[in-house]
Order: sequence, then C-alpha cells, then structure tokens
Amino acid sequence: MDDPDTLADRVREGDLRLHELDDHADPETAAAVRREIVAAETGVDLESVGDYGFEAAEAESAIENMVGGAQIPMGVAGPVPVDGSAADGEYYLPMATTEGALVASVNRGLSVISESGGATARVTKSGMTRAPVFRVNGVAEASEVVEWVADNADALREAAESTTSHGELEAVDPYVVGDSVYLRFVYDTKDAMGMNMATIATREAAGVVEAETPADLVALSGNLCSDKKPAAVNAVEGRGRTVTADVLIPRDTVADRLNTTPEAIEEANTRKNLVGSAKAGSLGFNAHAANTVAAVFLATGQDAAQVVEGANAITTVDVRGEVSASGDSSERSSDGGLYASVSLASLEVGTVGGGTKLPTQAEALDVLGLRGSGDPAGANADALAEVIAAGALAGELSLLAALASRHLSSAHEDLGR
Ligand code: NAP
Repeated sequence: MDDPDTLADRVREGDLRLHELDDHADPETAAAVRREIVAAETGVDLESVGDYGFEAAEAESAIENMVGGAQIPMGVAGPVPVDGSAADGEYYLPMATTEGALVASVNRGLSVISESGGATARVTKSGMTRAPVFRVNGVAEASEVVEWVADNADALREAAESTTSHGELEAVDPYVVGDSVYLRFVYDTKDAMGMNMATIATREAAGVVEAETPADLVALSGNLCSDKKPAAVNAVEGRGRTVTADVLIPRDTVADRLNTTPEAIEEANTRKNLVGSAKAGSLGFNAHAANTVAAVFLATGQDAAQVVEGANAITTVDVRGEVSASGDSSERSSDGGLYASVSLASLEVGTVGGGTKLPTQAEALDVLGLRGSGDPAGANADALAEVIAAGALAGELSLLAALASRHLSSAHEDLGR
C-alpha cells in the first residue's frame, strides 16, 4: 500500500483515478486523499467536510468518491400519540433541516394534536413499483403481450420472487402506447423502501416476458413506475405507502393554541390548498407536506429524491358541527370542532436497507422505535409512514393557522429568519 502523499501524487499524475483510490487504501485514507486533492485544486479548506461522525466503511454502499460528510442540524418535534394500523403509542419525530421555524411549526401542530387526543393514521395501500418498457411491432402484438401477462401471473410471480426472500409480487398492470408496452410491477416490499428489491425482481420477470412473448425489453424503467418525477400515476394509484392521518380538534383548542377559529382555517384550506392548487395545476393539494417529509427523510436515511412523490398529498379541513336538535347534521352549532386530514398518496419509506443503516439515521429510527424489521415484516415501515403522516398533518395545521391568523411573517421574524 502506498502512503497518502504518494497516492495523491499518483492521482495528479494520471496514474490513478479518484474512484480507484478505494482499491489502494482503506476507505478512511481514500477519503482523506481525495480531500487533499480537491482542497489543493480548488483552494477550499475541507476541514468541516472531513469532520464526520461515521466510519467511511459504513458509507461504502451509500456513496462513491467519498470525501467526507455533509451535516444537517437535527431536531425533534413531539411527542405525539399516533393510533395507527402499525403505529401505536407516543412518538418523537426526528427532523433534519436548515429551514428555520419548520421544527417549531410542526412541534406546535403536534402539541395541538396531542391536546386533542392524538392523531389517527392508517396505511390504506402499499406497493413499490417498477415499470419496464417493451418494444413490439404494433398494436396486435401489444395486445398479445397484455393477454399473456394476464394469463401467466404465477410464472411472473415465481420469477420475480426467486430474487428476494421478503418481496411479494402483488400485481402487474399493463399500459399500451402504440408499439410500446409498459408493465407496472407492484410489490409488497415489507420494511424495505424496495426500489432495489423491485428492480432486481422485475429484471428476472422481464426475462420471462421476453422469452415467452414477442416483446423486447427496451428499458427496465419505462418511467411509468414513476420514480422521482412528479407524476399523476403515483398520485392516483399510489406508490410505496398510501397513508392518511386525521384529527378532530376542539374549538377551544383552536382558539387557545392556534389563535384563530375553525372557520378561518377551513376557509384558508379551501381557497389556498384546494382552489389555489387546482388553479395552479398542482399535483399536491396541501400547504407544505414536503417540508415534513423531507426533514424526516433526511433524519432517518430515506432516499431524499423521493420527496417528489412524498409531496403528492391532499389536505382536507372542515368544521364539524354538533348535530342539531332537528337531527340535521348540515346545521352547524357554534361549538363545532375542526376536522383535519392529510392523505399522502405515495410515501416511499423503509426501516431496513439504503441509508437507514448509517449511524445517525439508525439512531433517529431508534428514537421512533422503528429501526430494522418489524413484527410482522412490514410493520415498522407502515408505522413510519403513519407517524410521518401525523407530522405532515401537524405542519399543515400550524401553517394554515398561521395564515388564517396572519401570524406567518411574524412567526418567522420572532425566530429571526
Ligand atoms: P436494499 O438495501 O437494496 O435492500 C433491502 C434488503 O433488505 C431487501 O432486499 C431484503 O432482502 C432485506 N431485508 C431484510 N429484512 C427485511 C424486511 N423486514 N423487509 C424487507 N426487506 C428486508 O434496499 P431497497 O429498499 O430495496 O432499496 C433502497 C435503495 O435503493 C436506496 O438506497 C435507494 O437510494 C436505492 N434506489 C435504487 C433504485 C434502483 O433503480 N435500483 C432507484 C431508486 C433508489 P431480500 O430481498 O433478500 O429478502
């Protein structure tokens, strides 16, 4: 093994490429040599980047050409009681962000939800997708392929599931556009977010489609999956976990804790989140669900680019009146509370695999009590989705209340940003 200075010289002389340093030094040394080279070439002192709190070897499956770590401040919001299909108890929500006031805002919302007895949350659908695109010579052949797929679900399942001990193929949804056939494979990936798992399983099943039909595989991902792009298919069909959280907040709590009325929050939601989003042609009908999703994703080692799909959320708010003496529930009494919900159509989360293994991310999952495999498998990822949905609901309530009471800019000013 060469010493670090010799390795740096060999890279400068073109004898080694930056990524080849891993073959000539341990991961820590390789990162240090890259820092030295980049620092010398750019004149930037990389002292902070080099001051990272994990073993370089632990990050090998997460990064290439590693030079160090990027650090993001982490806070917690809560605790909040969540009554879910898998979540059950009180949860602190770890959030990593550089947006001042975000954790405070979610924390305020969670404390209002707590005071109202907690959030109810349910995963109503679960399935990670991969949609390869195949070439055929025309519509007649396309129809032949679609028919074969419908008649051979067992053969496709056997091929796909031969690659994984956890994943289960749930469905294969066909789409035809001229001489292109897209097969959207849907998997139960248990506690894994499942993108690697689904891709590997689909490659195996696609081989069977090619062998048994006239279809030729063009690309293992044909974008109907749809990963990391804003897409209506995810908003409608779901991807990852489809999850909803709701809460009923007493009128007094809205007044005391949110400084406004249920009616004002309802109007802000209707005109902003529903009508405004419709006019904008938005896929997300919410105020800032992406904020909570992004911060929890970064804290817990999720794939950050999937915040794109995580923002496919609809927020509903309505004033719940007491049923009047006449029994007409449409007549609102003055002490009606505030019902609020957030439905996230495509929240892709995992508690095993990917970045969840890194130390700070694993600790954040431990704070939630949701690291690793659930019992039964899939329960931890379901619970994580339900807790994130409760957090997103809190963020929606807090921001809508700030807008309704016109406190938004002053809250940011008070926190100095
Ligand atoms: P992964 O780290 O590749 O795989 C997780 C593996 O953990 C599973 O395949 C499974 O092995 C095993 N496992 C152990 N206990 C499990 C449990 N309780 N539930 C489910 N699986 C369990 O992770 P992944 O979730 O499939 O993929 C996430 C990674 O994919 C992220 O790093 C993300 O950035 C990356 N990604 C990949 C693509 C792509 O196209 N390949 C696209 C976007 C993102 P068995 O399968 O053997 O059972």
